[in-house]
Amino acid sequence: MKKNRLEIIKGDITHINVDAIVNAANASLRGGGGVDGAIHKAAGPELLSECEKLNGCDTGEAKITGGYNLKAKYIIHTVGPVWFGGYRDEPEQLASCYQSSLKLAKDKKVRTIAFPGISTGVYGFPKDLAAVIAINETRRFLLKNSYPERVIFVAFDDESFEAFRKILEL
Ligand code: ADP
Repeated sequence: MKKNRLEIIKGDITHINVDAIVNAANASLRGGGGVDGAIHKAAGPELLSECEKLNGCDTGEAKITGGYNLKAKYIIHTVGPVWFGGYRDEPEQLASCYQSSLKLAKDKKVRTIAFPGISTGVYGFPKDLAAVIAINETRRFLLKNSYPERVIFVAFDDESFEAFRKILEL
């Protein structure tokens, strides 16, 4: 696999010029705080109207909508696990978020996709472990698939950036 299919950048995911961005949504898909709030604000109210028709989303799964006012054509909404100490299948559920999101991207022939650190905000998943899962699952998917061509991990703060960087350099 070409190394440049994976990249980390520091910044705001709503400003990134990619075909699809991933949202760390909650099960209702009706918007919320953190990156979810930022994405709804940037995409505009039509996003909420489309989300309301989707009947929510289970933990570890993903659903796709349009990107509306964003540069991205699509938003892939995935619901990460709340961290309860790691004994409630949280790592497997987070892995499933990445696999489900990448599968939707592949089905739409998305060339470039950006992920935030799913579950690493108010859901409390440890950033280092989340970065291992994010990068391992993405590598595993890319080895078997030619879409998406490039995956960007967007770190909102220095701690997240370092967590991704340490793993990507392994
Ligand atoms: P969760 O409920 O899945 O934990 P959060 O939105 O609270 O979701 O946080 C997920 C991650 O997204 C955190 O690492 C947070 O710092 C980051 N984040 C928050 N806002 C943005 C943004 N605008 N762009 C990229 N990442 C963001």
